[in-house]
Amino acid sequence: MSSSNSDQRITLAHGSGGKLMHDLIKNVFLSNFDNPVLNILDDSAIIEIKDASLAFTTDTYVINPLIFPGGDIGKLSVCGTVNDLAVVGAKPLYISCGFVIEEGFDSVSLEKITQSIAETAKKAGVMVVTGDTKVVERGKGDGVFINTSGIGICTYPLPQEIEIGDRILINGSIGDHEIAVLSARRELGLNIDIASDCAPLGDLISEILGVSARIKFMRDPTRGGIATVLNEIVEDKDFGILIEEKEIYVREQVKGACSLIGFDPLYLANEGKVVVIVDKEDAEQVIDTMKTNPLGMDARIIGQVVESPKGRVYMKTEIGGTRIIDMPVGSQLPRIC
Ligand code: MG
Repeated sequence: MSSSNSDQRITLAHGSGGKLMHDLIKNVFLSNFDNPVLNILDDSAIIEIKDASLAFTTDTYVINPLIFPGGDIGKLSVCGTVNDLAVVGAKPLYISCGFVIEEGFDSVSLEKITQSIAETAKKAGVMVVTGDTKVVERGKGDGVFINTSGIGICTYPLPQEIEIGDRILINGSIGDHEIAVLSARRELGLNIDIASDCAPLGDLISEILGVSARIKFMRDPTRGGIATVLNEIVEDKDFGILIEEKEIYVREQVKGACSLIGFDPLYLANEGKVVVIVDKEDAEQVIDTMKTNPLGMDARIIGQVVESPKGRVYMKTEIGGTRIIDMPVGSQLPRIC
């Protein structure tokens, strides 16, 4: 979307995490809000207050359906926000919770979602310290939308300079969340036995930060999947990334669903995964540490930072070819988070 083209309308793809959303952010939001803290566009803003570095983030959840295998909008709204704090090297401390509820929404579901927020916050070690409630007329919402903001304290200096040879790690299988949500919608006649990976990653991340001083960068591959995260990392950089298909763990159910509907697992959303870039000397130790946590049992080294091609992501396929992995334009599915 170009700011000069004012009759253009927002599409679902503008909210997908792909190229259209990046363009929207650049052309509309960044050009108006322009400041050095925001312009970094990391998962959380880092703000300096007196002697402390704080991480600050916000996220709005519009997932459909509200309850899905492995979670619900409440659990998701805590995990997404605390994970955005954790991946910038911060310990999540406090979150806010704003509800936009549609008239007629049943109070039992609201109670259930709220309990889920409380349980997940407890697990993640954060307190819900402020909130807001709005109700909109029937038909003007879709059950409930939730916004959470979060504050954490920075404990680890990130990002660090990425170098050729650094390894790319992930703590397990990809695509579980998006396929679980898709299956719960029953739209495509899919009924796949898979649960979302939705989980707070603060403990796993603080464990790996405790064993390596050479973790360079982390990001949670939510909307747009690992393909989007890897492309964001190499964008305008003097290096590229090469990943190996055989090292990327895709569960059989996810593979099956993808081949049925023509999705690519690299672009599927995750809600309990972190992509980590670490010095090659420390990669094995970080993997071993991840594996001691239930959320990292299937951790793998999936690739490395390479000198060329610069600014691109390539994948060595299982049959020995190479494939360019591009930034997606839109997502494969709207309203998955
Ligand atoms: Mg994120």
